[in-house]
Amino acid sequence: MTVAVTGASGQLGRLVVEELLRIGATPVVAIVRDPQKVADLAERGVDVRQASYDDVAALDRALTGVDRVLLVSGNEFGNRVVQHGNVIRAAERAGVELLAYTSIPRGAESPLILAKEHIGTEALLADSTVPHVILRNGWYWENYLGGLAHAVESGVLHGAAGEGRVAGAARADYAAVAATVLTTDGHAGQVYELGGDEHLTYVELAQVISEAAGTPVRYENLSEDEYVAGLIQAGVPADYAKVLGDAETGIVGGILDIHSGDLQKLLGRASTPAIEVFRAALS
Ligand code: NDP
Repeated sequence: MTVAVTGASGQLGRLVVEELLRIGATPVVAIVRDPQKVADLAERGVDVRQASYDDVAALDRALTGVDRVLLVSGNEFGNRVVQHGNVIRAAERAGVELLAYTSIPRGAESPLILAKEHIGTEALLADSTVPHVILRNGWYWENYLGGLAHAVESGVLHGAAGEGRVAGAARADYAAVAATVLTTDGHAGQVYELGGDEHLTYVELAQVISEAAGTPVRYENLSEDEYVAGLIQAGVPADYAKVLGDAETGIVGGILDIHSGDLQKLLGRASTPAIEVFRAALS
């Protein structure tokens, strides 16, 4: 069975390829825009194929002979529904038996700005003939690494998530789930709501950071506008800062607090504790 991973040059895609290699899946195809980025994987026997989500002919070539594919959602905001549609239609033409797509918790019920293109992609999948499974990935604990050094130095973690809880997990946990779904049967037609075992408020997240860093860090809650302004001041592009601010308000409403147990069932173990992710980043 030939298993392919798109976005294999990215952080999640690379971890999925690593996990497929670890569990002995073969052959493994890595679909990337820039083969240089995964030259090391090619050296280890991965079949690296070049295709952008914008290049229909290249996608057709890349998916030739592929039985199962993970479509890792792209990161070019505004273009993603068209790009993902290109991959989905290429998978149909190639006769792929299973396409797994990395979406966002709660799909069409999600009010997050970030969710719009995932909802659009899920709709394309619903209309397609390719058998598919939706991996609604919750937050990566790694999302908090960008602000980690500042929080540790200043002793203050800023956010706008109020008392909202995040059921995060390590990026590697979601990658392991994707590898399992690609290499075991019975997943076509499923929608998995994936979230970790810890359901942390930002006060608790600050405590975890304190423990990982060995220095006190407290949480300071801001309004969404204040939070967005702070991100822009720190150099985050305004459009992206707005998306992040909107996600904080979503957290207040519980949109990232996932209790399905799907991640744990598919992983066969508990999710990676946030403290391990922070300790690794600080070491
Ligand atoms: P990365 O940004 O590390 O990886 C994104 C991957 O998508 C890269 O391999 C990139 O290729 C590829 N890609 C983007 N646009 C195209 C395109 N037009 N054609 C081909 N490949 C393309 O993100 P992660 O791996 O960390 O996360 C995977 C996805 O999950 C993200 O893209 C995003 O949609 C979503 N996400 C989820 C988060 C969560 O907490 N659940 C947090 C952040 C993102 P290249 O290397 O060439 O740029």
